[in-house]
Amino acid sequence: MKYLLLFLLALLIIWQWRTHRGNKSTDRASQRSSKLPIDMVPCADCGVLLALQDAVQGKDGIYCSAAHRQRHEH
Ligand SMILES: [Zn+2]
Repeated sequence: MKYLLLFLLALLIIWQWRTHRGNKSTDRASQRSSKLPIDMVPCADCGVLLALQDAVQGKDGIYCSAAHRQRHEH
């Protein structure tokens, strides 16, 4: 009976360790997948890198702000 309890305890520890590890790896995977779709593009005027979703689209390229678009296209 004593060995059975030890065996069950060991199983419980292994199971918890595995689920803990599994959660960690899925956290890392979700972090990676949430970071990857962001495209970093350089401003055509000053060259600063910015996320494509924050960029200002100009006719000659992508800019970090409307001011830089104006400055570059004038
Ligand atoms: Zn700029």
